[in-house]
Amino acid sequence: MKLFFRTAICCIIMTVILCCGCGDAGPGERTDRAGQNTASWQYMDTAMGTVVQQTIYAKDQETAEDFSRQAFDLLSRLESEEISWRLDTSEVYRANVSAGSGEGFGLSEDLSGLLEACKELWERSDGAFDATLGAVTRLWNIDSWAVEEDTEEFAPPAEGELERALSTCGSQRMRLVWEEPGESGPKLGTDSVTEGDSAAAASASLQEGNGQAGRCRLYLPEGMQLDLGAVGKGFAMERLLGLLEDSSDVTAAVISLGGSILTYGSKPDGGPWRVGIVDPFDTSGSVGTLTLEGQWCVSTSGDYERYVEADGVRYHHILDPKTGMPAVSDVRGVTILMKDGLLSDGLSTACYILGPEKGMDLAGQYGAEALFVMADGRIEMSEGMEVYFTENENRR
Ligand code: ADP
Ligand code: MG
Repeated sequence: MKLFFRTAICCIIMTVILCCGCGDAGPGERTDRAGQNTASWQYMDTAMGTVVQQTIYAKDQETAEDFSRQAFDLLSRLESEEISWRLDTSEVYRANVSAGSGEGFGLSEDLSGLLEACKELWERSDGAFDATLGAVTRLWNIDSWAVEEDTEEFAPPAEGELERALSTCGSQRMRLVWEEPGESGPKLGTDSVTEGDSAAAASASLQEGNGQAGRCRLYLPEGMQLDLGAVGKGFAMERLLGLLEDSSDVTAAVISLGGSILTYGSKPDGGPWRVGIVDPFDTSGSVGTLTLEGQWCVSTSGDYERYVEADGVRYHHILDPKTGMPAVSDVRGVTILMKDGLLSDGLSTACYILGPEKGMDLAGQYGAEALFVMADGRIEMSEGMEVYFTENENRR
């Protein structure tokens, strides 16, 4: 069986080129105007399994370089200490190991906030977004599609295997149990907890878990595995934003992590950020451009980003939690625009599955703007998105 594995690195680069706009300084060049600090520097590396590109506006090269190093460090720590399901050093890995133990797992504050947001998105998206799909995503071996180019034999999972893996999923069975301030032991939080689990939860001590002791304890049933791939880059954008806010000598930046882009501050010449939206039909081009001022997060999910083709069938990486199969959709790509990174990333995945009608409604609930590139080439977008979007007239 002949295989094709592809990633969308060209799209990422395309997007970033558009972000930086024409006429900007190249790496390390200065374009000072009187009294203004207008230098920018660009850095590219890989982190979290994707290409990361940073354009940093700072008072001098040393500051930009220092920030860029801190940003790459932050991303690699985020992966290895918190969200990777593969690295045994991470909190998610250890949480997954705790599944079915009945003792639960003491979560750090960051991860408890992240999982709460995931659970809410699962509820609001009617289950289209589900952070507990780990057993199924592993069966598809999605992570290897990007790295083992043309080398591995691929066959979709057998029906029985898929059914077994699917039976371990479902965010309704992931429980977050909060301790009330001042309590020494865990207290049942807002989550519904069934009787059997409630007894296990009540007997657990926050200090006993494998994770960092915190005020929230996670209970995963037997076999359930977290996969935070759909929100990882968004979570990272939130952290990068924090780092930017703490770095007073960095005045503005554009950071792209795969399909997610963070804009921050204002360009010294006062011009807007221009973020290109990749054309799913020709990933070297764009369907149009977003014109943005200040801080924004733009996340795109699409069936062209990561996929494998076998025997003439294309299998992509956004799975329908109802079937465990790549979502069947009349959408090719979805772009979400909002201030929050985590939600923009999660919403782009959910909206791909939901389609424009339900997706736009969901995005609206979070105050986000959404743009859908449909399978027939049409573009559908929320009213608010029209303010920022200019269609590329040259696209096919
Ligand atoms: P990318 O990671 O390429 O930016 P997405 O943000 O759309 O793309 O996330 C897709 C990843 O999320 C998949 O590789 C998989 O790990 C996971 N995933 C797939 N389907 C779902 C889903 N329905 N809900 C939550 N996560 C999913
Ligand atoms: Mg996503």
